[in-house]
Amino acid sequence: MEKKAGNLIVISGFSGAGKGTIVKKLIEEYDNYELSVSMTTRAPRPGEVHGVHYFFSTDEEFEKIIADNGMIEYAGYCGHYYGTPRAFVEQKLAEGKDVILEIEIQGAQKVRRQFPSAVLLFVMAPSAKVLHQRLTGRGTESEEVIRGRMWRAVEESEEVDTYDYVVINDDLEECVKQVHGIVTAAHARPSQNQEFINTIKQELKDILKGEEEQ
Ligand code: 5GP
Repeated sequence: MEKKAGNLIVISGFSGAGKGTIVKKLIEEYDNYELSVSMTTRAPRPGEVHGVHYFFSTDEEFEKIIADNGMIEYAGYCGHYYGTPRAFVEQKLAEGKDVILEIEIQGAQKVRRQFPSAVLLFVMAPSAKVLHQRLTGRGTESEEVIRGRMWRAVEESEEVDTYDYVVINDDLEECVKQVHGIVTAAHARPSQNQEFINTIKQELKDILKGEEEQ
């Protein structure tokens, strides 16, 4: 049988909900995932590496890629551009990999329109207090940036209903297992198995035809 195309997995969630850690674990623990590295115009945080965490770019470079149709989606978030480069995602999906996009809500909706079978997950911290503590505890952002991200979480909480699944990041291991379970189930949808279903339909008819001819 021909190799099936992979699923596009969109993981969104409040900044500080732990999406990054979940994604890292998923990739370490299972071998069917590929993570798309996004492009952004925000400055690197300490320890972030170009090409690993993000492709860091200027506004001009980013806008050129948009103009060349090189982004699957892009969005403005807290004053900066963020986008998903197209080529990597299309290649890995064709290879049968489940490609993870860790992106915010506007981008997720654009992906939904282009890839109706994408699986959209929203990760939440167990409480607003925990979220605030995680953002403050990073120690990499100013109070103003943290407040901006908390306000953004308020806006995003209005849109959670547009996702397919909500995952609460209380216990990391449980959360990773749950996400992998959702992705595994998504592979069992009829839309992901059309070729197999068509083959069975044909085989059934062939058998019945053979019996009639006897
Ligand atoms: P951060 O600055 O904390 O790394 O990311 C800020 C937000 O941008 C997060 O919600 C993250 O998921 C989102 N983001 C990262 N890459 C992309 C992308 O390629 N497209 C979109 N739409 N959002 C992204």
